[in-house]
Amino acid sequence: MRKSAVPGLHFFGSTTRQVILWLRFGDSLRICYDLFALAGRSAPKKKKKSVVILPGAGTDSEDGYIPCGSPSDGAAEIPQPLPQTLTIAIMAVLSSMSHAFDPSPLQDICVAVDDSMAAVFVNGKICKDPKQVMANDFFKSGLNIPGNTSNQLGSAVTAVNVGNLPGLNTLGISLARIDYAPYGLNPPHTHPRGTEILAVLEGTLYVGFVLSNPGPNMKNKLFTKILNPGDVFVFPIGLIHFQFNVGKTKAVAFAGLSSQNPGVITIANAVFGSDPPINPDVLTKAFQVDKKVVDYLQSQFWWDNN
Ligand code: MN
Repeated sequence: MRKSAVPGLHFFGSTTRQVILWLRFGDSLRICYDLFALAGRSAPKKKKKSVVILPGAGTDSEDGYIPCGSPSDGAAEIPQPLPQTLTIAIMAVLSSMSHAFDPSPLQDICVAVDDSMAAVFVNGKICKDPKQVMANDFFKSGLNIPGNTSNQLGSAVTAVNVGNLPGLNTLGISLARIDYAPYGLNPPHTHPRGTEILAVLEGTLYVGFVLSNPGPNMKNKLFTKILNPGDVFVFPIGLIHFQFNVGKTKAVAFAGLSSQNPGVITIANAVFGSDPPINPDVLTKAFQVDKKVVDYLQSQFWWDNN
């Protein structure tokens, strides 16, 4: 079996003697687990686990299945006892992968309802009794109406999610209309639970998103594009992104998001406008500025355009 070359991914390989799980942490650390040994089976006589430190950050060129304790690239090998905490950590990583996004519905509909007396439980969620469900549970109007962009950002997001369209419950999708005044900005923000696909209907937007930290002393990569009516752009889940109306006229866009409740974290609001405020010493050091700058930023009113 092939070993994934992507850091962070795991893979399984197997022989008659071993069932192997490899975990990669960046380019420099791989941990190999023999699941036979983890399960207490006596089949293999190999080591239960070995930690492999790759020399430097070289390319990972091995293609084949690598048994535990047999690194093919001459890397230094440090056999270690099996710590329970690491086992728990690995199980946590594996289980979190299956909960990182909205779950599969398991049924046609599960209309969200607050009244638990009028509800049935499906997959841990409270669903409206299907016999009580109406077409209006899947319906919302008003997205033809522009949001009010008379604010310091010059933008307004009108979200349609499970909070105001209960039929979206468990379906892993939602929608937003975004209005921009001339030179209005939807400021840098992330959606912790959803990818966003944006379509421009009117106006000209400068949009972009920034990748995760690439590694020590390397800069986060920025992708940008100028969008015109009819253009579509994707902001991958969790990444910081923005849209700026660079035209002299108003702009309108619609966005689909891959969660019934994607969430929004506006960077400036979260960092400088939290309640209670983050200790200014933290921000002074983090942003490498004079404390007066932090005091000024924390004293501002941070408008939430959502
Ligand atoms: Mn967004």
